[in-house]
Amino acid sequence: MHAMLSEEDQMFLDYTRRWVDKECPKDWCRELETREHQFPHELWDKLVAFGAHGIGVAEEYGGQGGSIITQALFAREFARNAAGLSWVWGVTSFSGTKAVLFGGSEEQKQRFLPKIASGELKTAMAFTEPSGGTDLLGGMKSRATKVDGGWLLKGEKIWSTGADVADYLLVMARSDPNASKRSDGISIFFVPRHSEGIGVTPLAKLGMRAVSSCTVAMEDVFVPDELVLGEPHKGWYHSTKTLNNERLVNAATCLGMLDGVIEDAIEHMQTRQAFGKPIGQFQALQHYLADMAMWQKQGELLMLHTAQLQAEGQPSHIESGMVKVLCSEYVSKAADLGIQILGGMGYSAETDMQRYWRDSRLLRIGPISNEMARNMIAESYGMPRSF
Ligand SMILES: Cc1cc2nc3c(=O)[nH]c(=O)nc-3n(C[C@H](O)[C@H](O)[C@H](O)COP(=O)(O)OP(=O)(O)OC[C@H]3O[C@@H](n4cnc5c(N)ncnc54)[C@H](O)[C@@H]3O)c2cc1C
Repeated sequence: MHAMLSEEDQMFLDYTRRWVDKECPKDWCRELETREHQFPHELWDKLVAFGAHGIGVAEEYGGQGGSIITQALFAREFARNAAGLSWVWGVTSFSGTKAVLFGGSEEQKQRFLPKIASGELKTAMAFTEPSGGTDLLGGMKSRATKVDGGWLLKGEKIWSTGADVADYLLVMARSDPNASKRSDGISIFFVPRHSEGIGVTPLAKLGMRAVSSCTVAMEDVFVPDELVLGEPHKGWYHSTKTLNNERLVNAATCLGMLDGVIEDAIEHMQTRQAFGKPIGQFQALQHYLADMAMWQKQGELLMLHTAQLQAEGQPSHIESGMVKVLCSEYVSKAADLGIQILGGMGYSAETDMQRYWRDSRLLRIGPISNEMARNMIAESYGMPRSF
């Protein structure tokens, strides 16, 4: 048993690992990923059967219960085979669910969480705008104007992952243009995707190709008052409550992909022959593997430590940023070495290494860029705010 896990968490981990290998094998995930802009509903259905969308949702709201540790363990195991297809789970079950959990009214929790937990509802996040994701507040041009019984939304979003198949879009917009602070006067709206005035267009991209990331155009979209998430004008504060959790789960996803890289590298090193012996006998390649193994161990320790802090409700802002940066950079480097170890087959669409390489690259950019995360880490060590 892992020294940093409870018996219950270890049992969940073992069970999840077996399920992932049986139900979501790598070659199946690889095939699904090549189907550009075709959401893998069959993978979604398996996640529903497993109960994955209810992990971390309290039983009173129809979920399975479980802590942030359980969610991180699931994210890691699932990403080992699914890689970027993890977002089939993550977008709704993590980002959407969490936003509702932390920011929603009691009525909204009762209304939406059971449907999210049972897999009846898909959600997508539409926060980023073409004019900027890192400086989200500075770049935000989307406006929400109060009208009788609700709000009219106008603006454009970019990179909203899963927006083409979502039932609801979580849209952030400026609702009070006269607010004195940039972070005030922002609201989050739970917008039915088929509302009049919404146009969703998938973008071509490097990785996780089956799960579309989309532009979302909003032209006077009416949203009733009851679909403003939590308190109007306080949306920024609702969203920031989820950030530490999100960074941790992103790190766990990176760690899962790193596990996948190591598994595939070892298998190839043991079976591929050159100069009359397995390539695993060459010291150069053994050193690559040793580096990856050290990155894996460091990432795992910081991931579990951060998860523990979060589960106990202790401050974890800095650790969450650190683990996200560390794991996203380690998996990127490892996948690159993994391609080297596999040689030409690493570049082939018939193996998974190229998928880990493409899919992990995103995690250095979003949901927070590693430069921005480093700004925050340095600031916490007494440096002046650099942005
Ligand atoms: C495939 C994909 C899926 C995504 N899914 C979603 C989604 O579902 N929902 C959603 O809302 N968004 C999503 N995003 C958006 C993502 O969160 C943003 O891309 C990310 O926040 C970066 O914003 P940007 O692309 O506008 O880059 P910019 O903000 O323009 O940054 C460009 C560069 O400048 C650097 N930079 C900016 N400011 C600073 C600073 N102060 N100090 C140092 N460096 C700085 C950045 O680190 C980066 O290297 C997705 C993006 C991609 C590519």
